[in-house]
Amino acid sequence: MKRIIYIPFDHLNRNYGALKTANPSEDLIVLVESARMTTGRPWHKERLFFLISSARHFAQSLRGEGFTVEYIKAPTTIDGLTTIKKQHNLTEVICAEPSSFTQFQALTEFGATFIENDFFLTPRPLFKLWADAQKNFLMETFYRAQRIRLGILVEGKDPVGGAWNFDKENRLPPPKKYEGPDYLEHERDEIDIEVAKELDYTPTKTWATTRDGALNQLANFIENHFAEFGPLEDAMTTENWALHHSLLSPYLNNGLLHPSEVITAALKAFKKGNVPIESAEGFIRQLIGWREYVNGMYWFLGPDYRNKNKLEAKRKLLPLFTDPSKTQMNCMKETVSDINSRAWVHHIPRLMILSNLALITGTNPQEFLDWMREVFIDATEWVMVPNVIGMGVHADGGQMMTKPYAAGGAYISRMSNYCKGCAYNPKLRTGDTACPFTTLYWDFLDRHQAEFSKNHRMAQQYFGLKRLSDLPELKERAREVLQGLEEGTI
Ligand SMILES: Cc1cc2nc3c(=O)[nH]c(=O)nc-3n(C[C@H](O)[C@H](O)[C@H](O)COP(=O)(O)OP(=O)(O)OC[C@H]3O[C@@H](n4cnc5c(N)ncnc54)[C@H](O)[C@@H]3O)c2cc1C
Ligand code: SF4
Repeated sequence: MKRIIYIPFDHLNRNYGALKTANPSEDLIVLVESARMTTGRPWHKERLFFLISSARHFAQSLRGEGFTVEYIKAPTTIDGLTTIKKQHNLTEVICAEPSSFTQFQALTEFGATFIENDFFLTPRPLFKLWADAQKNFLMETFYRAQRIRLGILVEGKDPVGGAWNFDKENRLPPPKKYEGPDYLEHERDEIDIEVAKELDYTPTKTWATTRDGALNQLANFIENHFAEFGPLEDAMTTENWALHHSLLSPYLNNGLLHPSEVITAALKAFKKGNVPIESAEGFIRQLIGWREYVNGMYWFLGPDYRNKNKLEAKRKLLPLFTDPSKTQMNCMKETVSDINSRAWVHHIPRLMILSNLALITGTNPQEFLDWMREVFIDATEWVMVPNVIGMGVHADGGQMMTKPYAAGGAYISRMSNYCKGCAYNPKLRTGDTACPFTTLYWDFLDRHQAEFSKNHRMAQQYFGLKRLSDLPELKERAREVLQGLEEGTI
């Protein structure tokens, strides 16, 4: 063997990253299951199961191809690599550019040689070129440029379907008594069972742990869900836990799928005429727009961005985030119970329920970020940091988003069926049955007048605040709600 190729648990792809030019007779492949990754934090076990089992399956598939693979458990990645280097008397360690600042620094200090990270469609320098030329970093501007650069859903410089976005069509509330197609279940094999046993955990059958399983998930989405993805993409219902979301983020993030193959499959189905433009555009926007933008912004904004707290939010993480029995708020109970069972909810509960609550309660952004990192199946640093710090809780003072995503119960009531089974009333802002979201939304606007009242995008909201006749009463109720949330009684 001539050199070590180090494969992090989020580069599990034979055709991209450091493996694309690998040679079984010269390269020793190393995967490290570090204790920092497995026991360093109270990770959701569904997440650990998925990451570890995927990596072990991947190691097995490389062995099947004739590679020599060392899969080692060690306190840290660097400890593991040091051990293997010594054992095999090798000096050169190759790796695709890692996906977080921390790992980049650790591997740089270790002396690894990097090759370009091609797990995204937008190289980091290209994104920087775009960002350097912007006054503000609007995702929409980036997305349109991506459509043209990549030649996706465009005719020349014009959008297919006559518009760049179909957001208006894609904001339907959930239909009543909604039954979609069944979700795909992934059977467990010996490796899965071994990992589950080590973790002392019974995993769901929701997440595949192999490339074949990930490809099945993609095919299932295209066949059974893609056409209806768009209109219901923001809806939430207790009757159907994922509606028509693709459930592909874990595989895109750990490398089992590459975004280009997901896009190719989506465009193929669209071209066949089976999928309306609002669904095709809505889905493509998530991939070539949001996903690429968030990754680009992570690298562009730098390692200190994760520590931003411009609104000086100090509250400790509230008990209802980890324990649904600590709340009577039906939307939170449902969302946290869903996370506890399968480590996933879609983008609207993440943004408009979890992050919204963290924002309007003044929860410390880093405590909230850490919790989000621990509990989601698809959470990694590059994607969680901008989504939470920038989009979710506006802790960056508006670097990413022009206004905070704060909302009262009316939004949740419109987009879900949660309020029907709730102890609170989304229309009320004062009194014992007032919706905590509604009360705290106005309280948040009032507390942060200095930061936001001059923001013209929030003019309407501040106009509404001025017209409230019961602000003193509302402030009193907000104090009660915050205390009740801390005590786990609201
Ligand atoms: C506060 C917050 C935290 C989030 N944390 C994560 C995270 O840790 N990991 C993660 O992959 N996504 C995250 N997202 C984005 C989004 O919620 C998930 O990608 C999506 O719910 C995954 O389910 P899906 O694959 O069914 O997505 P779909 O709705 O089917 O969308 C398709 C794909 O688009 C991509 N995508 C869509 N929105 C985003 C986005 N905002 N950022 C990055 N990619 C996006 C994902 O790869 C996703 O698989 C977060 C969003 C918010 C608002
Ligand atoms: S009334 Fe308020 S707390 Fe209850 S489910 Fe609706 S939004 Fe959530």
